[in-house]
Amino acid sequence: MTLKEHELESLKNLLPKGQVFTDRASLFSYEVDAGLDRGMPEGIVFPNSTQDVQRIVRWAAEHAVPLIARGAGTGLSGGAVAEQGGIIVEFSRMKHILDIDEHGRSAVVEPAVINLALDEQVKLKDLYFPPDPASQRASTIGGNVAENSGGPHCFKYGVTTNYVVGLEVVLADGRIVHIGGRALDYPAYDLCGLITGSEGMLALMTTIAVRLVRNPPAVKTMLAVFDSVEQAGIAVSAIIAAGLVPATMEMMDQKIIRIVEPFAHAGLPTDAQAILIIEVDGYPASLDSQIAEVVHILQTHGGRDLRIASTAEERNQIWFARKSAAGAITRLAPAYYTVDITVPRSRLTEMLFEVNQICDRYDLRVGYVFHAGDGNLHPLIMIPNPEDTHLIERVHRAGREMVELAVGKEGSISGEHGIGIEKRQYMPLMFNDAELAALWDIKQTFDPNNLLNPGKVFPLPTGDAALGTRRGGSGVDEGWGRLRRPGEVGHSVGEQDEGDASVPATLNPTLAPTGHGLLSPSSAQEAAEALSSATKAHRSVYISNSLEVPAKDTATTILSTAALKGIKTYAPNDLYVTVGAGTTLTEIQAFLASERRQVPLATPWPEATIGGLVAANINAPLRMRYGSIRDLVLCATVALADGRVLRLGRPVIKNVAGYDLTKLFIGSHGTLGLITDVTLKLVVQPRTQRTLIVPVENLRYGLTWTRKLLPLALVASAIVLCKDCDIPGVSSSPYMLAYTAEGVPEDVQAELEQVRQTLRAVGGPAPIELEGHSGTDIWARFLGNFPNSVKVRAGVAPKDIAAYVNDQAMTLNERAFLADMANGFVYAIKKPGNGDDEAKEQRAWLKKLRQPALALEGYAVVIDMPAAWQGSIDRWGYQPQAIDLMRKLKARWDPEGILNQGAFIV
Ligand SMILES: Cc1cc2nc3c(=O)[nH]c(=O)nc-3n(C[C@H](O)[C@H](O)[C@H](O)COP(=O)(O)OP(=O)(O)OC[C@H]3O[C@@H](n4cnc5c(N)ncnc54)[C@H](O)[C@@H]3O)c2cc1C
Repeated sequence: MTLKEHELESLKNLLPKGQVFTDRASLFSYEVDAGLDRGMPEGIVFPNSTQDVQRIVRWAAEHAVPLIARGAGTGLSGGAVAEQGGIIVEFSRMKHILDIDEHGRSAVVEPAVINLALDEQVKLKDLYFPPDPASQRASTIGGNVAENSGGPHCFKYGVTTNYVVGLEVVLADGRIVHIGGRALDYPAYDLCGLITGSEGMLALMTTIAVRLVRNPPAVKTMLAVFDSVEQAGIAVSAIIAAGLVPATMEMMDQKIIRIVEPFAHAGLPTDAQAILIIEVDGYPASLDSQIAEVVHILQTHGGRDLRIASTAEERNQIWFARKSAAGAITRLAPAYYTVDITVPRSRLTEMLFEVNQICDRYDLRVGYVFHAGDGNLHPLIMIPNPEDTHLIERVHRAGREMVELAVGKEGSISGEHGIGIEKRQYMPLMFNDAELAALWDIKQTFDPNNLLNPGKVFPLPTGDAALGTRRGGSGVDEGWGRLRRPGEVGHSVGEQDEGDASVPATLNPTLAPTGHGLLSPSSAQEAAEALSSATKAHRSVYISNSLEVPAKDTATTILSTAALKGIKTYAPNDLYVTVGAGTTLTEIQAFLASERRQVPLATPWPEATIGGLVAANINAPLRMRYGSIRDLVLCATVALADGRVLRLGRPVIKNVAGYDLTKLFIGSHGTLGLITDVTLKLVVQPRTQRTLIVPVENLRYGLTWTRKLLPLALVASAIVLCKDCDIPGVSSSPYMLAYTAEGVPEDVQAELEQVRQTLRAVGGPAPIELEGHSGTDIWARFLGNFPNSVKVRAGVAPKDIAAYVNDQAMTLNERAFLADMANGFVYAIKKPGNGDDEAKEQRAWLKKLRQPALALEGYAVVIDMPAAWQGSIDRWGYQPQAIDLMRKLKARWDPEGILNQGAFIV
């Protein structure tokens, strides 16, 4: 597209002088990102503020001009390239760190803050922002969030999405909305999780709130040499099997070592077939024993010439070498192509073998860097002559074969670099038409006029797969416009997908809801058929984990997950387990316990199924150590009300192919679809778990002490303060403070010693040490008690929790409460009221907790109540700013609104 004269003029007048550029030199410098694709923009705008961005979006909407957000332009998949023309929104002037909150461990930044700059600033406060892409010296937090970037420390700490809690965005219609915030688990669809990794196609981010963790006090880095990459891969698996969690496990093969060493001079052994870089972190007391154990495993599996960095300088040298792979290659060839694929980590070595064969077949020179702990593989293919079209053709053919291999091994077409232009033609390898249509539903919900970064992620309708040569393609809209959703007249997805098991072709008559009924499908397909029938019959469906049908309700079909039960796949080496949604957490933990593994989740209700837990998104205090449900669900299968079955995600830690739909179902209360199975991340059971119990006579003291203890948490898995909680064998004080730490014994001891010292310093009492009863157990017992009571969960930013508890002490003290201090939650129990006035009392009590929580940009929701009170209390009392988007999305996937009516805010 080309801007008309009057459009150019109005663009120039949109923002003050120096913020809009349309001259050719400027346009040329924005023609590419760090990938191979090109596209000439028609203007560059430099917003200084959210209001500037809003002005730009409104202008673009009025003139139907595409907008392409840009951070540092280090993206490798063409995400920031103006392929269809339009305006680059260059965020570089929005680069301020707005807040670093030490106590609540969070930061708020503008999008163009450089990743390393944020990490350096938070480290000054003893905090750590773990996502660390190799490009961290240049790439921006906005770009990292848009791509859901990973980095070498993902094995232990996860990827960017695990740290993003809130966003301020400008939507395609020009509205400024806040999504999520600094509290956790807002009662809303997780649009923050959805926008993270959406490659600038759903909204422009103007402010980002991230979670931080404590900076590990000590770290040790080592390097080991192997005679083959297979051996190195086996050593990585053995470390995982032993239950060790190094901060990072990176591998380089001989080819890349020989390229990097002459550049980095880090002393890498150029005769090694492969090297592993392993880093462990924790308290100084634990590092020697952690390293000793790693060394033993490495040596048992053929590791030799072990080199442990003894100074920060040596450590930096090793990392400089690892992060210099790209720079070193450019000395040998003017261009290179970075392949980014992920497979379950146990398949990495076989993958490497096959990738090598591909490169040999196409006569390509290649070196490898791997995030071995994550199964993420980067073949770096050298391009000595970028003008050689035959060579480029060979490179892309080889790239495609590698991607196909990864998909065939349950992996992803992109682990961390995104789809953009580069990989959009590969999307059908990973997603069927029903799934692609579901992704397109998201785009349509957010950006119906396809204004934001058009043409990315979705495959072109033609066979135009020649990478790096496309310009001005507009076929995406036409192609996706043609794809009709089930139920629409004409060529349906079902018809296109002949023989595809994920789309119902016929309806199973035994499952068709006729009148009052209970259905118990045993597969996703059966569930989809039942839902599709119900949609056609306009019949409401309630998802339940039981086989009981409420006696009076004849208008609603109960869809039970009781038959969707059992462990489907247990993959200890890849650290995941796939289970049917109707399996109880108790059953899953019992199965895993015999293997010394667990999913780090807990529930107060023994009958709770995993499907129910995921849909309700109720997280125990131990999330502070292992992450929450949204961090632990790797993938899921869901049946939509319109009859589609979607397989969401893959069983790998790193996967950025398409929008992250899995997040939407977590906390959706069954209103978007039926979850039929989930794949959960596993952890090895901690070697030690200890809890210090501190009796507290005066709530104020308890809050002050907790505030002093929070910054210590490195291996803590719960810090709770409660009134009237029942701890076996501990004589009761009005309040109790419990601090649990778990992990390797030296870390646990070191942390609990710090807790004791801190308590002594503030004049607190000597704590009692317990083994085998954690803060999470106390939480579960607390919520499992008090039958027939109203139970409320208030969520505020962790920095505000002490003030909230203090200010609402009178209301909280009426009966009992438990504050999960690290995560910003307080659970309160209502005292039974008096007869007729009970309902009024309940509402007044709830209001006293809710209004101050809302004033702190949090919320207070009812998580349990006696059946008699259903309907008389507003459970949610919360209206997200993007509720309209939630409703639009629901209408696309559940067009008749049959699912779990009244169960959530939509
Ligand atoms: C040498 C090298 C090493 C790399 N190593 C890694 C690595 O280890 N791990 C990894 O994950 N990636 C890596 N990358 C890829 C790249 O650095 C990341 O994808 C990074 O997150 C991009 O950030 P950026 O600021 O450069 O974003 P850009 O490239 O400018 O943009 C990336 C995407 O984000 C969108 N975007 C940017 N800002 C916003 C905003 N404010 N709102 C909405 N959308 C926005 C853009 O439209 C685009 O789609 C590497 C790249 C290079 C060149």
